[in-house]
Amino acid sequence: MDLAELLKKAREFHGHSCPFLALGIRISDIAMKNLEIVSRDEGISIAEDVLAIVECNNCLTDGVQVATGCTFGNNSLIYLDLGKNALTLVRRSDWNGVRIYVETEKIRKYFDRRALELFDKVVVKRSGSSEELKELSELWEKISWKMLEIPEKEFKIERVKVEPIERAPIFKDSRCKKCGESVMITRIKDGLCLKCSGSYYAVVGRGIVKFENSKMEEVVL
Ligand SMILES: [Zn+2]
Ligand SMILES: [Zn+2]
Repeated sequence: MDLAELLKKAREFHGHSCPFLALGIRISDIAMKNLEIVSRDEGISIAEDVLAIVECNNCLTDGVQVATGCTFGNNSLIYLDLGKNALTLVRRSDWNGVRIYVETEKIRKYFDRRALELFDKVVVKRSGSSEELKELSELWEKISWKMLEIPEKEFKIERVKVEPIERAPIFKDSRCKKCGESVMITRIKDGLCLKCSGSYYAVVGRGIVKFENSKMEEVVL
């Protein structure tokens, strides 16, 4: 795979280039080689024959989507709300897969001190100036290229057997008696869509959360 080309594609998709985006490409590259998948263009995503199972919803996941072609929308991306830098790639034919995991600490050594300082100020504290934001984005771009070459020994690579996961079912629509909108039949309760019922789940920055009376429930960590 041409990782440099993938990083360019990923930047377009993700809106910026950043280390974890590139890490998502590197981790996918290792997983695909291990599973002997030549490229994302094997048509795998249409048939859902290969699944990418991610364990976080950060920038890394966008790198995985671009590199593997397994996306949120084509139902080949499975999200486990575990908060780990890990990807499992698995074939449906035998449910044999490979899980690649990497410690955040191992990645940090590829960041220079200035990038870490700026990350804290611009992203964590959201208090950077526009010059600092520009400087961070230039540093990120540089680190992204380094990420593509992280040696395999930095990753934990293991063969795994995955419990079968159903293919995306095709359901008929029904209609909500309150808002009048059509809605997938599995997402209607007592004639109301879940939005009108006020009780539903959502993926937000911290992971999967429950909304009750249309308000995010207090999350106990
Ligand atoms: Zn990013
Ligand atoms: Zn409704």
